[in-house]
Amino acid sequence: MKDKISSLRAQFEEELSIAASLEVLNSLRVGFLGKKGSLTSLLKELGKLSNDERPAMGQELNSLKEFILSSLAEKAKGIEDGLLRRHTAKGAFDFTLPGRTPRAGGKHPITKVMEKIVSIFAGLGFSIAEGPEVETDYYNFEALNIPRNHPSRDMQDTFYVSDEVVLRTHTSPVQIRVMEKQPPPVRIIAPGKVYRCDADVTHSPMFHQIEGLMVDEGINFNHLKAILEIFVHEFFGPKVGIRFRPSYFPFTEPSAEVDIQCVICSGSGCRVCSQTGWLEVLGAGMVDPAVFSFVHYDSEKWTGFAFGIGIERMAMLKYGIDDIRLFYENDLRFLDQFKHEEI
Ligand SMILES: [Zn+2]
Repeated sequence: MKDKISSLRAQFEEELSIAASLEVLNSLRVGFLGKKGSLTSLLKELGKLSNDERPAMGQELNSLKEFILSSLAEKAKGIEDGLLRRHTAKGAFDFTLPGRTPRAGGKHPITKVMEKIVSIFAGLGFSIAEGPEVETDYYNFEALNIPRNHPSRDMQDTFYVSDEVVLRTHTSPVQIRVMEKQPPPVRIIAPGKVYRCDADVTHSPMFHQIEGLMVDEGINFNHLKAILEIFVHEFFGPKVGIRFRPSYFPFTEPSAEVDIQCVICSGSGCRVCSQTGWLEVLGAGMVDPAVFSFVHYDSEKWTGFAFGIGIERMAMLKYGIDDIRLFYENDLRFLDQFKHEEI
């Protein structure tokens, strides 16, 4: 046994001395230490030895095994270092170069503005409602008091999927869907995408709106005004002036368009506000009793208000952006500017 061990060691040393690649080292390891390796078969023979001989031989075999393992590891490291040196000599690596920092993403400015507006209204007790972007004519128009051939359908350039199905032109159909499902009181906002056949520096065929609806007993225009004032002051700052102008929407009566003091010139007049000092930011009004009749709310008992806010419009005013298309071009030079912006 002792002879076998020493000849095995000699054999290993010889083979190791001529091994020149990691592959050869691996086959050496298998040849000596693998399941059918020569050292493994010697270990199996230990059982045949007498009790006197066994411990000493066992120890020798173990130390040979340790020797083989450490020699293989040492040689492998030598080979790897050699490879590395040859690569570096050829100029493949320059260890002094700084590392590459991976690009970190950030939230899109539209997402940020949307989240900010949602959080303001959530703080006022509004909950979030959602509806489909592909909508029926009934929810997008009819139930909002816009019958077929009503002239106000011309106000919106609609994408028709079929005669009865459209891409929703506003988030207002969500009002109807919510009121159909739940009795008053209602206090919801509905953020989402809307579609209109329109494209220039301030219009995009797809854009975002947030719809608001509050219905309860005794709701009047003062409540609408107060809620929107709180919103504008939270979003644009406490000093920004706000005014309501009479307007027309088929689903609200009376209706108003809401202006804020120009955030660019603080009201003194500039190109953005067409020298008026005011900027239109949203539309609102008291829910028309005709709309309530579609969802079987008793308009003698319940009153409510609704408003619609254009997200892109808010983002453009907030950040001083003069072309809506910048939001959709995915130009990282543009998007990166908003990465760390707190609103
Ligand atoms: Zn201005």
